[in-house]
Amino acid sequence: MCCKLLGIPEIRKPANQWCEDCNVGKGCQIYQDRPLSCRQFDCLWLQLDGIPEEFRPDKTQVVLSLTDHYDEDIVAYCDPEYPDNWRNGAFGQWLLNTANKLSERLFVVCGDDRKVVHLRSGANKN
Ligand code: SF4
Repeated sequence: MCCKLLGIPEIRKPANQWCEDCNVGKGCQIYQDRPLSCRQFDCLWLQLDGIPEEFRPDKTQVVLSLTDHYDEDIVAYCDPEYPDNWRNGAFGQWLLNTANKLSERLFVVCGDDRKVVHLRSGANKN
């Protein structure tokens, strides 16, 4: 899903459309030579221990990342075809709880729509 939802400046790939080098469902066709942005990106699903398999981005249509400048804020990149997945069901509950533990804000990006969800407190933030 990151090969669809994220923009990749080096290859002028716009956000929200599949990369021409992506074999959807299989992987990157230029994996050995993929751009630096692709090499450096690790979504939160890969980084967090214990995150359920059903929350994998290709199942939720939501890619989670930490913000570039403030490592504590989560950004949820949503597929515009599924604009409410970030807040629905067990995944939505988990996302809000997890974001609330890390920060006071959750950034939601869905096509041209960008919003900041203000959480309760960030009470567990160290
Ligand atoms: S170059 Fe490869 S890893 Fe990067 S967006 Fe395209 S398909 Fe994905």
